[in-house]
Amino acid sequence: MLPATDLLRPVLILGWFARSKMNYIRINKSSVTEGPGIRLTLFVSGCRNHCPGCHNSDTWCFAAGEPFTEDTLGFILYHLSKPYIAGLSICGGEPFEPENQEGLVPLLRAVHRAFPEKPVWCYTGYEWEDLLEGGRKHTPDTAEFLSYMQALVAGPYKQEQRDITDSNRWRGSRNQRVLDVQKSLSSGFPVAFAGVPNNEVKKAEDR
Ligand code: SF4
Repeated sequence: MLPATDLLRPVLILGWFARSKMNYIRINKSSVTEGPGIRLTLFVSGCRNHCPGCHNSDTWCFAAGEPFTEDTLGFILYHLSKPYIAGLSICGGEPFEPENQEGLVPLLRAVHRAFPEKPVWCYTGYEWEDLLEGGRKHTPDTAEFLSYMQALVAGPYKQEQRDITDSNRWRGSRNQRVLDVQKSLSSGFPVAFAGVPNNEVKKAEDR
């Protein structure tokens, strides 16, 4: 593995940190609720979904939390290097708000370069179709963002379908699905991530 300073150099040259306006709320260094294994979880600031009953409403404001800086990136890379950390999960807030996509892509690029073997999961309140070309959250950053993802937990939190039992593992409500991002991209339609209970993907009109 390269030292963190070498990993940081390309993004510093690009001046990413000078431009990035992304804030984050917190980083959980050892989470077991946002994907398989012990994971590092980043909660970004800013969400326009405002799902009724959301448990993370402290993350809705884009100005909440702290600016994501080069120190934050170094912190994430350092903790991801630990052998017991299975991967990175990105939560919110809403990672697919356009300003957060712009802020997250350089982070994901650096993580992919340093730890290609550590899968990245992401949580979004939007649907798969919202992220595709022509969708309401598709931006010039979306294709690269998705290229680094193993799994996407997709769909808004629905209070009336709340289920945090093991039969709805890694999700907050029963409408949400864990998608295999690379299979979904190559097939052109959302594909369920294998091995997750109650994870059949319904047609958009039936959700
Ligand atoms: S998308 Fe997530 S953070 Fe945003 S309102 Fe819904 S549950 Fe809360």
